[in-house]
Amino acid sequence: MLKIANRVKALKSSSIMAISARAAELKAEGHEVISLAAGEPDFNTPDLIQAAATKAMKDGITKYTPATGFQSLREAIAKKISLENGFPVDPEEVLITSGAKHGLYLALQCLVDPGEAILIPTPAWVSYSPMIELAGASVIPLPLYEEDGYRPNVERWKGMAIPPNAKGIIINSPNNPTGVVYSREELIKLTGWALQRNLWIISDEIYEKIIYDNLTHTSISALGPEAKKATITVSGFSKSYAMTGWRFGWVIADRPFIAKMASLQSQSNSHVTSFVQWAAITACTLPPEIGNFMVAEFDKRRRYCMERLDKMGDYLSYTRPTGAFYIFINLSKWLIKNRMTDLEFCKELLNKEYVGVVPGSSFGKEHSIRISYATNIDNLKKAFDRIEAYLNR
Ligand code: PMP
Ligand code: GLU
Repeated sequence: MLKIANRVKALKSSSIMAISARAAELKAEGHEVISLAAGEPDFNTPDLIQAAATKAMKDGITKYTPATGFQSLREAIAKKISLENGFPVDPEEVLITSGAKHGLYLALQCLVDPGEAILIPTPAWVSYSPMIELAGASVIPLPLYEEDGYRPNVERWKGMAIPPNAKGIIINSPNNPTGVVYSREELIKLTGWALQRNLWIISDEIYEKIIYDNLTHTSISALGPEAKKATITVSGFSKSYAMTGWRFGWVIADRPFIAKMASLQSQSNSHVTSFVQWAAITACTLPPEIGNFMVAEFDKRRRYCMERLDKMGDYLSYTRPTGAFYIFINLSKWLIKNRMTDLEFCKELLNKEYVGVVPGSSFGKEHSIRISYATNIDNLKKAFDRIEAYLNR
């Protein structure tokens, strides 16, 4: 057997991807599986974007591109963000990446040194910690509390000693896994708290367009020049334009940092697929409302899920989600009574009831589960019928 490097010895695959793969296996065996595990829109990418990619291929946009991404695309993203997100962006401050995920990976590789630490308000998305650890750094979780609705409350962290090796903080609003959208006031406080501690901010805004209840998204870099200077903004089209498989995202940061990330990209994956980049230029020209029908549909599903969950109050509680397409459910009452961990529950639910959900412990919060409602109401109905029957047993 080949000898695996120490750096990756402890590395595991994304738990969400592993559950989705198991769900697909069971489906292939002929079971009627409903996966509420992976968070990905069930819609297809808008026709105009598809057509632009096909045309680009026909037109010969099939060659290497600059590592930064096509200059015209960087210009288009810079213009779009300046207009929609309310902070000025120069094309040289934009790097085109293979999804937000690889943008985060490159950013962390370029930001943290071995021995340093990154703070993460937790529960948090599954891939932040492994990425930080791959850079040789450690993770300091900042607890978020269900009784605060999983909202950031800097008062809670006042007594916490933040070690001098803490280099940065990852902020993710709208949030995965809680679905919570932080208000502008909360982000001002959180950013102020981070800046006072000389922390760099990585702002993961991948769900920026999926927001309900007439709330609005605030980009941290829009909070003023000091905030912008300290922030690395990561986003992309995976969620807003149902483009998860295209692997398209971007990072916005100061020029020298972007140039260094481009060097790393040039020495690894080179750049994002040429015709995907070309189609993304078209995506930038679409009116932002083009994704509204998806958000309206997600909202219907969100309401349906909450109706069902409200009827299971004897077993669980949840935080009302106002963004993304997740609900984070506290199952501790039921799990403690039945002497089960959240991981065991998720395994049983998948293997016996053929419903895929993600254990809260994957996000750093035990006794909980995350469901994704990016699937149609018929599926949600079946999934909730099965979950309810299982809990009642
Ligand atoms: N950040 C969060 C919080 C996510 O949930 C995801 C998963 N899609 C990503 C980043 C990565 O997005 P992408 O598919 O664009 O790589
Ligand atoms: N980000 C999505 C999720 O949280 C997809 C899975 C992944 O990227 O790991 O479900």
